[in-house]
Amino acid sequence: MDLLPVFQDVKGRPVLVVGGGTAAARKAELVSRAGAAVTVIAPGLGEDLARLAAERGIAHRTGDVGAADLEGCALAFGASDDMALNELVYDLAVAAGVPVNIVDRPELCQFIMPAILDRDGVVVAVSSGGDAPLLTRMMKARFETLVPTAYGRLARFGGAWRDRVKAAITDGDLRRRFWENVFEGPVAELVFSGRESEAAHAMEAQLDDIAGGKAARGPVGEVWLVGAGPGDPDLLTFRALRLMQQAEVVLYDRLIGDGILNMVRRDAERIYVGKAAKNHTVPQEDIGHMLVRLAGEGKRVLRLKGGDPFIFGRGGEEIEALAAEGIPFQVVPGITAASGCACYAGIPLTHRDHAQACVFVTGHGKDEKLGLDWEALIRPGQTIVIYMGLSMLPKLVKEYCAHGGAADMPAAIVEKGTHPDQRVVSGPIGELPSLAAKAGLGPPSLIIIGTVVTLRGDLAWYEAEEEAEIV
Ligand code: SAH
Repeated sequence: MDLLPVFQDVKGRPVLVVGGGTAAARKAELVSRAGAAVTVIAPGLGEDLARLAAERGIAHRTGDVGAADLEGCALAFGASDDMALNELVYDLAVAAGVPVNIVDRPELCQFIMPAILDRDGVVVAVSSGGDAPLLTRMMKARFETLVPTAYGRLARFGGAWRDRVKAAITDGDLRRRFWENVFEGPVAELVFSGRESEAAHAMEAQLDDIAGGKAARGPVGEVWLVGAGPGDPDLLTFRALRLMQQAEVVLYDRLIGDGILNMVRRDAERIYVGKAAKNHTVPQEDIGHMLVRLAGEGKRVLRLKGGDPFIFGRGGEEIEALAAEGIPFQVVPGITAASGCACYAGIPLTHRDHAQACVFVTGHGKDEKLGLDWEALIRPGQTIVIYMGLSMLPKLVKEYCAHGGAADMPAAIVEKGTHPDQRVVSGPIGELPSLAAKAGLGPPSLIIIGTVVTLRGDLAWYEAEEEAEIV
């Protein structure tokens, strides 16, 4: 380690920045955000610095830099285009014993500015000692995906409970374990999802147990019902990825591809609960009860759902059992198949010239009956997206036409949308069943009906290998 990382308190202390350009603005902004009293000396201010000076009350003057300008400074920066001036700043700062940083001159830096990830007060600073600033920025970006934005909120939450916990749990080891459970368990997840009052209840309950002489509860299990998007792992949310990496057991079905499953924590137990299961080890109990049982064992259970859990995902049914048993859970939205397939197939679901509305329906009716309200669906300027409709396609098309839908209405089927082997078949709806049969389309497939499909030619960036023609 070449440089010692420290976090310095510069609140209210003078900091000198020499130079008025973008580099000077970046330094001035950072130190001023940390509460320093910044003075900029430069013949003029660039746009960034001028705006910053107005917003943050940064002092500015023109003229020469002298020894008096360094007096009492916490830090000094030389960010001028004039190298001789920067060198003067360096000499003056060294003489005054003020730590100095000259931009782009590592040999004239007594300290460097790290790449900073600021999560509302919880700060990660990354440095390569000046060797590879780009690498540190990339590392920072990786942290950004891992550290929830609400980490600062969690830190403040913890801070507010610190004294009470200390009084309630005097044993240091026990206290550390308690806090580990808080920061990695349901309480943290409640804070991250903005449910601080529920988190406070959970804290109260645990401290009451301890005060009442009961053994501290073991780690409480919980369930995360997470939308994994339509297939491309890049479409996962940060929260989905974070929970996938914390889960101890994962329940998944056939919509979850290997690409996504591979991103679940490696040692997590994987349980396939898909309908097409030939695996006899899958318990017969329904998924809701399985979730309750696993969480009851103290496990962190991830229920991965394709797309969004609340869009034809039966997410609502699975959490009923959890709610009834008082098991903590959270639901994480995902990109639904309609959004994913439409974007990857180049079909905007709404468009000012084509559709002002878009409806999502399921083509998977009960007892072979579709039960669709065609009058409400077939409307000018409305795109229809049908989930789970492929097996009923001929019937769907027949009913569509019988209820006044035009047989030449443009329509498309997106098979395995967002996957590398996505296929798109499009044509007039009347011909869709034969086109689909010819292409041998299978699940999962999504049907899109509406004149927006004609925009595909203009927007498509993904070319299907086997493409039916739009007539
Ligand atoms: N909750 C999911 C939908 C589950 S219902 C979501 O929000 O996307 C299952 C249906 O979704 C499938 O029959 C199919 O119609 C559609 N679907 C899901 N993933 C798909 C994909 N990658 N490509 C095409 N259709 C998909």
